Amino acid sequence: MSKIHNFSAGPSILPKQVIEQASQAILDFDNMGLSLIEISHRSKNFEAVMDEARNLVKELLHLPERYEVLFLQGGATLGFYTVAMNLLKEGGKAAYVNTGVWATGAIKEAKLVGNIEVIGDSSDKNHSYIPSFHVPSDADYLHITSNNTIFGTQYQQFPESNVPLVCDMSSDIFSKKFDASKFSLIYAGAQKNMGPAGTVLYIVDKEILGKSGRKLPVYLDLAAHIEKDSMYNTPPVFAVYASMLTLRWIKENGGLDGMEKRNDAKQKLFYGELDRNSLFKGHSVPESRSWMNATFTLVNDALSVEFDKMWKAAGISGLAGHRSVGGYRASMYNALPIESVQVLVDVMKEFETKFG
Ligand SMILES: *Cc1c(COP(=O)(O)O)cnc(C)c1O
Repeated sequence: MSKIHNFSAGPSILPKQVIEQASQAILDFDNMGLSLIEISHRSKNFEAVMDEARNLVKELLHLPERYEVLFLQGGATLGFYTVAMNLLKEGGKAAYVNTGVWATGAIKEAKLVGNIEVIGDSSDKNHSYIPSFHVPSDADYLHITSNNTIFGTQYQQFPESNVPLVCDMSSDIFSKKFDASKFSLIYAGAQKNMGPAGTVLYIVDKEILGKSGRKLPVYLDLAAHIEKDSMYNTPPVFAVYASMLTLRWIKENGGLDGMEKRNDAKQKLFYGELDRNSLFKGHSVPESRSWMNATFTLVNDALSVEFDKMWKAAGISGLAGHRSVGGYRASMYNALPIESVQVLVDVMKEFETKFG
């Protein structure tokens, strides 16, 4: 089989060593003669996996003591509701910034819980930029989406906030350095940049919990999960294990510093070509471009059949854009090697030579 260059937006590419190690653990975990997925999650072998995964998150993000780390289920989608149930006070309000499909989803779910004020919204220009906004000081929290997977925009700087800052980091967590201590709560579905689908990471400043005055069903109660070290009920063992392997890989490859260098080189290579090549145009304004998901279209749509033929022939997979933007989306998550970006750039150059 010739090499596939996997630009899928999610679920997406994982490091090859992670796929190999995870496969081995399905066959025989820790030389137990048993599969990872047929042992008790209360066994010491699996408890060690959960502990290592949670500790690696703390270590990679340099989290202060007051933070706890959870691996739960329900994806970021259940996170939309969970966040509001835990943080939005009875009779209070929360501020949200609408930067695309996922932010819209977060707003919709939070509105089921209470009063939501949308303080910034980029829908006037099909979410091609990160809007500026003013944070009301009487909000229980501010919710943002750090990277907009579908539209290809990303906060270049996180906002200063005098109220607790909450962020959906599903598609850019661990992709570059940032000050995690500015956030009261971070959540991220695993399947973009950390592992397989099936688990969602929560990073919680314990001090903000227990203030909403709401009665929570136990699965949505972050304090209940913290109390039980993320093992209140059966965790998604395979997804947690594969995520732990990816976190080890990140650490071995220089931590967030290493990821930032790797991802910066890829985004420079890709956007450099996008800006140079006369046959393509980007969706996002340059000041809001995402390092993770680059969205772009052809200047002349009639050439799409030819372009599609060329990238497919080069072994590129997963380049089709989301229907909200059309065109193409090159997702360049941590595990994507720069060689794959180079292959795409070479195809774009060759395409211009032939059709420009
Ligand atoms: C993919 C994605 C989601 C949805 O995640 P699920 O785990 O499928 O619920 C939410 N937010 C962002 C930013 C995403 O990229």
